[in-house]
Amino acid sequence: MLESLNKIYNVGLYIRLSREDDDKTEMSESITNQKSLLLQYVKENNLRVYDIYIDDGYSGTNFDRPDFNRLLNDIELGKINMVITKDMSRLGRDYIGTGNLIEKYFPEHNVRYIAVTDNIDTFLDSSNNDIAPFKAIMNDMYAKDISKKIKSSLKAKMKEGKWVGGRTPFGYDQDKDNKNHLVVNIEQAYIVKRIFDMCLDGLSFFEIAKKLTNEKVKTPAQYYSFEWKSHYNLRYGEWNAKTIRDILTNRMYIGDLVQNRRSKVNYKVKKVVKNNPKDYIVVESTHEAIIDKNTFYEAQKRIPKNKGRNEKKDNHLLDGLLYCGDCGHRISITSRRKKDSRCYTICNYYRTYMKQKLCTTHSNNYDELEKAIIKSLTEMCLNYINKDRIKNNVLNNLKEDNKTNEKKEIDLLMNDIKQINDNLDIIYIDKLNKAITEEQFERVKMKLEQELNNKQNRYNELNHNVNEYVNEESKNKMINEYINKFLSMKEPSRELIINLIDRIEIFEDKTINIHVCFSK
Ligand SMILES: [Zn+2]
Repeated sequence: MLESLNKIYNVGLYIRLSREDDDKTEMSESITNQKSLLLQYVKENNLRVYDIYIDDGYSGTNFDRPDFNRLLNDIELGKINMVITKDMSRLGRDYIGTGNLIEKYFPEHNVRYIAVTDNIDTFLDSSNNDIAPFKAIMNDMYAKDISKKIKSSLKAKMKEGKWVGGRTPFGYDQDKDNKNHLVVNIEQAYIVKRIFDMCLDGLSFFEIAKKLTNEKVKTPAQYYSFEWKSHYNLRYGEWNAKTIRDILTNRMYIGDLVQNRRSKVNYKVKKVVKNNPKDYIVVESTHEAIIDKNTFYEAQKRIPKNKGRNEKKDNHLLDGLLYCGDCGHRISITSRRKKDSRCYTICNYYRTYMKQKLCTTHSNNYDELEKAIIKSLTEMCLNYINKDRIKNNVLNNLKEDNKTNEKKEIDLLMNDIKQINDNLDIIYIDKLNKAITEEQFERVKMKLEQELNNKQNRYNELNHNVNEYVNEESKNKMINEYINKFLSMKEPSRELIINLIDRIEIFEDKTINIHVCFSK
């Protein structure tokens, strides 16, 4: 018998037959079948049916179905507070929409949802095994979805010519009255102008940098010093050729807004990559120019082209996962100079502060390093699989026992909670009938409420535990999947590697620490 805790339920039965179901699963999914299953279920559980909602021939991928909308409408009107379907896919086939319904819409409207053959009952929270893996997939989808949405809304703003933030280019400040607009920073703009002048005078990047350093002209780093606390006093007062080059090639100085120059690899990895210039979002004349167009294009002619560099960047399997074990900064992979030449690793901190010798090279032949890491990852995976088998045999039995016991206790608690609620009702009626005094009522009420509170807390705690088991199980399942997939692949994909490895630390003495997402 369905646990109902004193509540009277008005049930909406929802039935859907989609065109996709037509030939394959006709028998089990037919309207009549769904209907008789649901009616039997409500009969067994003594539930009151408010109405039956049927969508015949509508796909489960969108929620634009007439009777489904009627169901939602009746929920809004408070006519039903329980929805029952045969299984979850009747509600919808799209994870995000269905998840929204189950996790947000129904609870917000105090609607209890039951998917009969999936054993899902939102009243019992997630104490069944089926909803958690579902949630896991769903959460993942949410994350992807949200990151996509943020990106596309940022892009929309970029296309409108709005500055979307980040550090303003050297020479500009964010407009105090309009955060999407840039205004000239006069002091910095003067330096930018000088750099262009020197370029037209025929000075090289290096010579310009040296000149400015000698004159003790403040560098961008010094202007942005609040962000540079950790590097304070290092190369901070020194101009370098790259900064000069970046300034001389930046179209922002002729008043055009150039954005989307970098992007994140994906929502899981924080690494930022430079975008291909063809993906830049450029809107002309959005802010005041510092350099006139003639000067700018004249300067472009004098800028040596970087032959081949960055053009065909190799996509390394371990890119973005490598860290310096000695200083903690990222380790990057040098690009191949020629087609068949080797790539090497280098500590970014070392490279940036070479003269100051703040770190060491951490140079390794990348291809060999990759081979070694894949080999050792394979060993870890094999090891994990073996251990997992033993664990499955021994520990899981124990865990199963715990789980069963906790589930039993949950059932008992639910009974108790119902009993206490009943008793509360009784004393309340007694009080109304003056069978007990106000004082007696207060005393008993307090006692009962205290008890109810304790039981409720214990109930929540157990539910949480059971949830944890289920989450852990689904996480293990996912990792198992990744590992098996990895072991079966001749050439592992980058996506799989990202899912298995958190980070790799490389030490100067060639020690390698691989941090994986599973217990080794
Ligand atoms: Zn380092």
